[in-house]
Amino acid sequence: MTVYDLHCHSTASDGTLTPTALVTRAAQRRVDYLAITDHDDISGLSEAHQASTGTSVRIINGVELSVAWKRQSIHIVGLFFDAGSPALQDVLASVRIARRQRAEAISKALAQVGIGGALEGARRFVTNEALISRAHFARFLVDQGYVSNKRKAFNRYLGQGKPAYVSFTRPAISEGIAVLRAAGGTAVLAHPGRYPLTATAMRNLLDEFRDSGGDAIEIFSPSHTPMQNERFIEYARFYGFKASLGSDFHDPEESHVDLGALPPLPSGLTPVWSI
Ligand code: AMP
Ligand code: MN
Ligand code: MN
Ligand code: MN
Repeated sequence: MTVYDLHCHSTASDGTLTPTALVTRAAQRRVDYLAITDHDDISGLSEAHQASTGTSVRIINGVELSVAWKRQSIHIVGLFFDAGSPALQDVLASVRIARRQRAEAISKALAQVGIGGALEGARRFVTNEALISRAHFARFLVDQGYVSNKRKAFNRYLGQGKPAYVSFTRPAISEGIAVLRAAGGTAVLAHPGRYPLTATAMRNLLDEFRDSGGDAIEIFSPSHTPMQNERFIEYARFYGFKASLGSDFHDPEESHVDLGALPPLPSGLTPVWSI
């Protein structure tokens, strides 16, 4: 059986393994096709391609693009694009700038609840100067003993509706899809079960995603409950979306699903990698 893992993070965003270490781990875990999908950054891809030569792992170009839909923060996994596309690089660079501005606002919000020095603290966990994510703040909060694990850092401070939640300016979902497609890529709706939407709002999101040129949805994700996996298999069938899957692996300690540790795609769905 061919093993695909089309969603994971390296040190080019908020993962803790370098692209090379991810490729090595993927090879050990018998992953055949790996997409490294860093948040709003594709600087890890050339190292990943280099590291894969001489191994059994094939690298698929990937990115996890932050977009907005009706004030919701939505993630689009882009696959198979040309990493040399200037339009794509421009959009990613602008999102990274917005992330830096948000990081300052998060730090101020944490100071308001008595947690000082958060920006400097989070920066100690940053591995790509150009990219800061809430995961870096979460690691700082765990490291300093404010919370005992990453999940609690989101539940108490960083998650939507919590005291240090701050949004940032992102492209609209239709613009994100368009730039990925113009770069020859495929747009996949990441972990659809993660978004706090009613059933009606979810159908509105899926309608707009399809109408904007979205190709596929993740049906298996560690963010999903088993019931959500079933639900998104049904949605993929109903909408005619191709199916994708990924571990969303970030770190050997933090992540409870390792590279490649996903069930095979159910029959009757078209995989995102089929032409
Ligand atoms: P950002 O894109 O900077 O807003 O942060 C999103 C990242 O934060 C995700 O990719 C995860 O790494 C992490 N994250 C978000 N929500 C949670 C959560 N509930 N538990 C653990 N990590 C989370
Ligand atoms: Mn992340
Ligand atoms: Mn995501
Ligand atoms: Mn991710």
